[in-house]
Amino acid sequence: MIKINEHYLKLQESYLFSDIARRVEAFVEAHPGKELIRMGIGDVTHALPPACIEAFHKAVDDMADDATFRGYGPEQGYLFLREKIARHDFQARGMDIEADEVFVSDGAKCDSGNLQELFAVDIKVAVPDPVYPVYVDTNVMAGRTGAFVDGRYQGLVYLEGTTANGFVPDLPKEKVDLIYMCFPNNPTGATIDRQGLQRWVDYALEHKSLILFDAAYEAFITDDSLPHSIFEIDGARRVAIEMRSFSKLAGFTGTRCAYTVVPGECTAYTAEGRPVPVHQLWRRRHTTKFNSVSYPVQRAAEAVYTAEGKEQTGKLVSGYLANARYMRKAMEKLGYTCFGGENAPYVWVDCRTDSWEFFDRLLSEAAVVCTPGVGFGLCGQGYVRLSAFNSFEKVEEAMERIEAVLG
Ligand SMILES: *Cc1c(COP(=O)(O)O)cnc(C)c1O
Repeated sequence: MIKINEHYLKLQESYLFSDIARRVEAFVEAHPGKELIRMGIGDVTHALPPACIEAFHKAVDDMADDATFRGYGPEQGYLFLREKIARHDFQARGMDIEADEVFVSDGAKCDSGNLQELFAVDIKVAVPDPVYPVYVDTNVMAGRTGAFVDGRYQGLVYLEGTTANGFVPDLPKEKVDLIYMCFPNNPTGATIDRQGLQRWVDYALEHKSLILFDAAYEAFITDDSLPHSIFEIDGARRVAIEMRSFSKLAGFTGTRCAYTVVPGECTAYTAEGRPVPVHQLWRRRHTTKFNSVSYPVQRAAEAVYTAEGKEQTGKLVSGYLANARYMRKAMEKLGYTCFGGENAPYVWVDCRTDSWEFFDRLLSEAAVVCTPGVGFGLCGQGYVRLSAFNSFEKVEEAMERIEAVLG
């Protein structure tokens, strides 16, 4: 008899996006011809930068000729891409990250879901609340949690984000082994400063823990005082792994390319306490289960690092950031307390009422779709997320409509 992994049965259906879709559908049916403005989905809206498209096309042509055709590539990713990542994203900012420490992948979602399999089932896992659901669900699948009770999985440590701590969680009271962090944050848009991040690295060094640092929104950091990478922090090379993505930076959400940095010194331990380099484990996993991203996609990602690519992605990001600032200002003018929207493409609004109630009001009265914060965890109740991934014209109109309803 073929038996299932019963941990899958503990998973809660994520009703968030299906619930949103259902309510939107009902609204559209009742109001034919009324134009909806969607500020709910965390997907980019602008096309790939021309520099990437040009490199993409050229690489496709390479595949059409025996002389330039590429078959299986290196599992870790082509050196031409890993070298540029190491140089531009890390060495240029004074960090000692080498191309050999970079693993190219098909997504930060995939990496943040896959990394947990390197670690024992009985470790203590800490996740933020509100949370990017991948961190939680992949640990449920692996059997690291108990049942779902009153909105939370037993056995997980939830690091609470609140208005009081500005959605930068405090260190846990108990000892935890694996810590998920995401800054700039999805969904709250919160950022962490050097001092704050140093406290987490020191905690991990003291407790022999490991931090999985999701920096998918790094490109949105404009405040010079904020760290762009956890590897700017002293001691982080021993206790941290960082995930980055071309998705939000360069519109690769559909094209798929990302990378993970596992420094040579990053260490985990056997049950007896013998240190083992995590790099060695991740390389083994990566080369066994994955064959990297297609050659044309890696060439397209490489073009992000050319002068034109930097200029074009810079424009994309600053456009989204201008939207975010505009949205935050408009909500604050209406008297709402907001987080994010400054070094992140999300504005997290304290809606002073139930998340779904506020969602329904914006939908029915303004025809604007947002994301109810409670969908990201218990601490998200009473908040909604507004996404800046849109054209400025749509954002302007959405804020006008919201002002008319809430003003
Ligand atoms: C969008 C996003 C990612 C990016 O995932 P890809 O798989 O690279 O597209 C990763 N983490 C968070 C928190 C995100 O919001």
